[in-house]
Amino acid sequence: MKPKKLDSKGNIIVGTTAILIVVLLLISIFVITTLNYIQNSNIDSEANDNFKYIIDDYSTNLEVLGRDAIAEATQKVYNGLPVRDSPDQIKKNLNKILISKNEEFRQKYDIDLSSEVISVEPTDSPWKVLFKVKLNGKKDMDEFSQIVERNASIEGLRDPLPVAKLTIASGIMAYDDKIHYKTALSAYMLLHDFDSPESYIEATAPMTIKKCPYDPYIHHGDPGVLRDCLDTGYFHESADGSCYLCRLEGKGKCPHYGMEVFIQTHTPLGNESLSCSDHVVFADHYNGAKIDPSDWDSLILDSSHRKKYGLVGNESY
Ligand SMILES: [Zn+2]
Ligand SMILES: [Zn+2]
Repeated sequence: MKPKKLDSKGNIIVGTTAILIVVLLLISIFVITTLNYIQNSNIDSEANDNFKYIIDDYSTNLEVLGRDAIAEATQKVYNGLPVRDSPDQIKKNLNKILISKNEEFRQKYDIDLSSEVISVEPTDSPWKVLFKVKLNGKKDMDEFSQIVERNASIEGLRDPLPVAKLTIASGIMAYDDKIHYKTALSAYMLLHDFDSPESYIEATAPMTIKKCPYDPYIHHGDPGVLRDCLDTGYFHESADGSCYLCRLEGKGKCPHYGMEVFIQTHTPLGNESLSCSDHVVFADHYNGAKIDPSDWDSLILDSSHRKKYGLVGNESY
């Protein structure tokens, strides 16, 4: 009798454990399913595949349209008008552009779309701007509401900073894919009492944003590299330089990760003057000296920028 009793007790324990495990499994499955459901709840499951294709198509378009919206803000700056809140300006531009895109999608997919740009933000790359757009769709009885996120590239757009900072009235000009400062920069330096403003008469800088391929930048000290960098007019990543969104507002410096470009002087003068990285000229204001004093086109650089670009000696590029 005793062993039998033990047996039945054992059976009860095994049975209870088994039931507990099954219950736990069911709870786990329920929790996982619920979490998945919450994640996907903004897409109606029946229409999921159909909407997914449309949302993907819309997202791909957003890369180009976001960039168009930025370019419109840049054009405003080049037209001589100030952009005081660039994310807001770009939001407005994009909302307008998306109205016609939504209409295009209505004809293409027979779907009612409405959209609202939620944010335009800098990213941890100075070459990209992040767009977030809330997209609502309705087709027959199915509906969805989703936030679409895409990065737009600013490479190939014009640098708005020189014009936004100095204004068109300063006499600054843009042609041959270059910013021609004429006397605008020297007048600005004279006004702020910086050293040797005459060094920056007729200074030039690249206009179209191109990312410098000579990375790490210390390679600018290698033979021929700096010359090619200046001839092509490349821009460089810089924690001290301003991001594209802040450039539109005429800020030479900002809290975001940004970029810098060399402002090239063309002068026989060998005086100390502002170091030629644009964030130094427009915001940080410290001096540098010509890398090669005998070269009219030599960059005026301070020691930390010389180190960053590997230009420590008396290089003539
Ligand atoms: Zn470069
Ligand atoms: Zn910024």
